[in-house]
Amino acid sequence: MTDQNTIPSQTADRRQILTALAAGAAMPVLASCGASPAQAKDFPIELTEAQWRKKLTKDQFWILREAGTERRFSSPLNDEKRKGTYHCAGCDNAIYSSRTKYDSKTGWPAFWAAIEKGAVGTSVDFKIGYPRTEVHCADCGGHLGHIFSDGPEPTGQRHCINGLAMEFKPA
Ligand SMILES: [Zn+2]
Repeated sequence: MTDQNTIPSQTADRRQILTALAAGAAMPVLASCGASPAQAKDFPIELTEAQWRKKLTKDQFWILREAGTERRFSSPLNDEKRKGTYHCAGCDNAIYSSRTKYDSKTGWPAFWAAIEKGAVGTSVDFKIGYPRTEVHCADCGGHLGHIFSDGPEPTGQRHCINGLAMEFKPA
């Protein structure tokens, strides 16, 4: 390949067009960063859409990768009261503990804190018209649910999590 800087400008038309096209091709990548904060970040675990579809069930894919929400009272984990750890159904990252689980009566598993700082991340979404705090797995970026400020002490937080986004491992 010839260094483009050595080509006289009169003969560089085609190359300039190609360079312009290449620059244009890079633009959508930058533009998409604002679309979905959770997916725009780099996560330690990154699979292609095809790989996620293979790894997850249809419903899990919809929730974890497309920010869907399961029907309330549909998850058996809503009533799970045993001691143990809740892992991300996408990548097995430990995200919540039975120690902070409580019955929020909303129909979704609820926790007043993540298992440890850094296990989950948050972003703001406007999916239903007003800002909500979206919560996702810190390792794979998978959407878990939302955090509301009507939870119990000591944090006052309600992490409202889709049961399908988690896998429970009894202690
Ligand atoms: Zn994960």
